Amino acid sequence: MSLLSYTCPNTSKEVRTGIDTNATALAKMGSLKVGVGCPHCDEGHIVTADSMFFSFEAASATASREPQLAASSSTSGTASP
Ligand SMILES: [Zn+2]
Repeated sequence: MSLLSYTCPNTSKEVRTGIDTNATALAKMGSLKVGVGCPHCDEGHIVTADSMFFSFEAASATASREPQLAASSSTSGTASP
């Protein structure tokens, strides 16, 4: 399960949208604007799809704050040296 997230422009905190999609679908959305509610500043934000990234519920160890998505790598969760 891949939940789309974005970074709140006011608080710079990560916000999960609850939108469950995958990298392929997200790539197709491109710069589509999505209206999302923000629990941090209690406002609505218009976020473009290409500025969103995936947040995985289970693995919160590697929290990348980069508002980018690696479209080329689908499952790169292994961090073994
Ligand atoms: Zn916000």
